[in-house]
Amino acid sequence: MQIEHLFPRGETAFSFEFFPPRSEKASEELFETIRRLTPLNPSHVTITYGAGGSTREITRELVLRIHRETDLAVIPHLTCVGASRKEIAAILSQYREAGIKAIMALRGDMPEDAAVHPSTDFHHAADLVSFIKAENPDMLAGVAGFPEGHPETPNRLKEIDYLKMKADAGADFICTQMFFDNHDFFDFRERCEIAGITLPIVAGIMPVTSRKTMTRMSELAAGTRYPARLMKALSRAEDSRQFESIGIHWATEQVLDLLDRGVRGIHFYTLNSSKATISIYQSLGLIKSQS
Ligand SMILES: Cc1cc2nc3c(=O)[nH]c(=O)nc-3n(C[C@H](O)[C@H](O)[C@H](O)COP(=O)(O)OP(=O)(O)OC[C@H]3O[C@@H](n4cnc5c(N)ncnc54)[C@H](O)[C@@H]3O)c2cc1C
Repeated sequence: MQIEHLFPRGETAFSFEFFPPRSEKASEELFETIRRLTPLNPSHVTITYGAGGSTREITRELVLRIHRETDLAVIPHLTCVGASRKEIAAILSQYREAGIKAIMALRGDMPEDAAVHPSTDFHHAADLVSFIKAENPDMLAGVAGFPEGHPETPNRLKEIDYLKMKADAGADFICTQMFFDNHDFFDFRERCEIAGITLPIVAGIMPVTSRKTMTRMSELAAGTRYPARLMKALSRAEDSRQFESIGIHWATEQVLDLLDRGVRGIHFYTLNSSKATISIYQSLGLIKSQS
């Protein structure tokens, strides 16, 4: 697969992220979500990988089922912290044999108790990208970018140097952490350009749909900044329906601005639900109607 298949030049490609469900019922609900989102013609969908490989089996099962049962291009996430070369090679070879053509290559968060994983064959995501490319030169590799900075980044100059190391290791595209102020994304994109990073940069958008998911995501993406203007609007919500509609409105404005300014890709953190994504598409005339 060529990178232009995922991100055709001159267009904005849309993609959706799902996490592996932990029950039969949740799995069927996810496939209903996928059925609703498929007519939106995403360039690809991605499947997360639980911290430290905790969802290794269910991530793989979901990836292979989507690959088997739909026409969607599916990209598994893979984290390397605490993993051995042998384990990673085995996972990559299963994906390659199944016909998976791209991987989202991540380090993963460091375990709180470092003694649980005393050693690792991989220190940073760049090591995983190099490994993927050495073993599977035809496989595309996406990497994470952090417009607002990563919590462990020693300083804001080095973060771009480290991102450049991932690009130099062979990464094919960058997908960002969610952000709520587009200025952070465009500033990040410009800093990448200055550093000579020419990869497609995909903007990660998470419509805020409930207090519960907002809290959960803020824990998973610890560095994310919630602008006061957004918080003020959300604080006016009288019930959960209003809260959701404010969150979706905010994300719609973000997407409109990103489209106007020609981003290569927009990645929706769907949280396995189709409602917010479909609503944004409808508001922006990206689809006429949804059956
Ligand atoms: C789009 C996206 C998808 C994600 N999906 C998942 C998922 O499915 N599962 C999951 O567990 N997590 C996921 N994460 C979270 C991610 O694993 C964590 O944020 C993790 O802490 C950093 O991963 P990374 O790949 O950016 O690591 P790296 O690129 O290795 O960076 C990690 C930290 O190390 C620093 N660093 C990098 N290289 C060097 C170096 N050479 N020397 C010193 N410091 C260095 C960086 O500045 C950064 O602070 C995702 C994040 C994003 C943005």
